[in-house]
Amino acid sequence: MTGSTTLILGGGWGGLATAHHLRRDLAPEHRIVVVERSDTFSMCVSYLWLMNGKRQSLTQVRREMATLKRPGIEWVQAEALSLDPTDRTVDTSAGRLTGDYVVLALGAELAPDAVAGFDAAAHNLYDGAGAVGLRAALGSFTGGRIVVLVAGTPFRCPAAPYEAAMLVEAELRERGIRDRTEMSFYTPEPRPMLVAGRAVSDALENMLSKKGIGYHPQHQVESIEPDTRTLHFADKTVPYDLLIGIPPHRPPALLAAAGLADDTGYVPVHPQTLEILSNLETLEVAYPGVYAIGDVTSIRLLNQLLLPKAGVFAEAQAQVVADAIASEIRGEPRSANFDGQGSCYVETGDGLAAYGSGDFYAYPEPRVKLEDPTTAARQAKEEYEQLLDAWFE
Ligand SMILES: Cc1cc2nc3c(=O)[nH]c(=O)nc-3n(C[C@H](O)[C@H](O)[C@H](O)COP(=O)(O)OP(=O)(O)OC[C@H]3O[C@@H](n4cnc5c(N)ncnc54)[C@H](O)[C@@H]3O)c2cc1C
Repeated sequence: MTGSTTLILGGGWGGLATAHHLRRDLAPEHRIVVVERSDTFSMCVSYLWLMNGKRQSLTQVRREMATLKRPGIEWVQAEALSLDPTDRTVDTSAGRLTGDYVVLALGAELAPDAVAGFDAAAHNLYDGAGAVGLRAALGSFTGGRIVVLVAGTPFRCPAAPYEAAMLVEAELRERGIRDRTEMSFYTPEPRPMLVAGRAVSDALENMLSKKGIGYHPQHQVESIEPDTRTLHFADKTVPYDLLIGIPPHRPPALLAAAGLADDTGYVPVHPQTLEILSNLETLEVAYPGVYAIGDVTSIRLLNQLLLPKAGVFAEAQAQVVADAIASEIRGEPRSANFDGQGSCYVETGDGLAAYGSGDFYAYPEPRVKLEDPTTAARQAKEEYEQLLDAWFE
């Protein structure tokens, strides 16, 4: 094929990884167009370090889209408004675009408005400015009740709220105010990181318990009253002095309008090829040449839970999709499949992190091993930030 166009909707972790892999693999006459509404890319991993003061400002952890390093990746700053997957046409706020290939990498949106009072009451850890505000609030905190609240599932990075709780606990100890602070964690999840298997849940529950963080699973917050600093659940109310919030997430609206959403609201894809499916049983592909990767996807695992929304998966899937598109253009068979392997670093405070890795496609449930926390794993986690230098000037 001469002179193809690949449209990548969303220039976050997965979208930019796709663009960079494709640009490396394709000759210059093939266009790679990234439609991204934001003029910056942020490394969300680093929000925890904005929270605990290891990074001082948002500018350290984000880059201007205009400084994308690799020539030949076109960035269109626009909102993708609608998609016709049959003819691979996208209407955007900057006009209509048509591609030979489309990669949906729109992520999951934050929906703080879905819980009354969340915006006014919570320090939103999942938002760059929210993490900066949280640092200031923690800095002036002198004791009281801290609640970490997961306000809805699914949410990005199943480890991050737990890491936040343990990092804050370590900071309070360091500052000598731990004994003046009651820490608790409320979440609708049945257990911490259950998707990674029971052994990982056991390990995390153990860590929280040893650190004296009260864990309250199966608690869906209904509303929050900022004036009285109260959380309302179906069967109880909980007071707080400082609230660290993970807002509910929701799928991008254009998915449902394009007929691409399943009952989770996200896009069902072939677990290995990331092609969009019309039939989950037979794995029948709905729209050849259209792929979805990362947080926007819904991949049901053999234990019936969903593959977690994490950058490491978005990046691995980006590689597979880029390979499939480049191979097809060159008239060669694709060489890579997504195999469900994943890893993460769970920060536990005191300069330590526990490295977890394994096979999320294992039967009957994901086989993931969480190692004991080490300083080396905490150091290794910083490597995620290298993407900022790899992708931007
Ligand atoms: C605090 C925190 C810590 C985390 N830590 C880790 C970690 O340690 N390891 C890990 O693997 N993951 C981590 N994650 C999760 C990781 O950031 C996400 O899973 C990852 O960014 C998903 O990549 P994506 O490309 O699917 O979506 P995103 O990176 O969210 O990108 C989606 C992009 O699409 C754009 N977009 C959406 N809709 C439109 C539209 N209509 N038009 C135009 N543009 C649009 C958005 O602006 C965004 O840039 C963390 C997340 C948070 C919040």
